[in-house]
Amino acid sequence: MRLTPCRSCRGPRRPGNYLCHTCWCQLAMPVRRALCKRDTRALARLRQLHEQIDARVPLVEIAVSA
Ligand SMILES: [Zn+2]
Repeated sequence: MRLTPCRSCRGPRRPGNYLCHTCWCQLAMPVRRALCKRDTRALARLRQLHEQIDARVPLVEIAVSA
């Protein structure tokens, strides 16, 4: 499996994690909790995260649906 870099800082990222540890820790706790849920909305939340990162929203201000 090819390793995808962290979407936010392009640094190395562990497989299975959405972001590298440094970027992940900057997300608000409710956002992290929501992103950890693996339900039918998981992909939609990941898309929201990616859209905001691509729009250069600061990590601390990122919000996703519950
Ligand atoms: Zn990162």
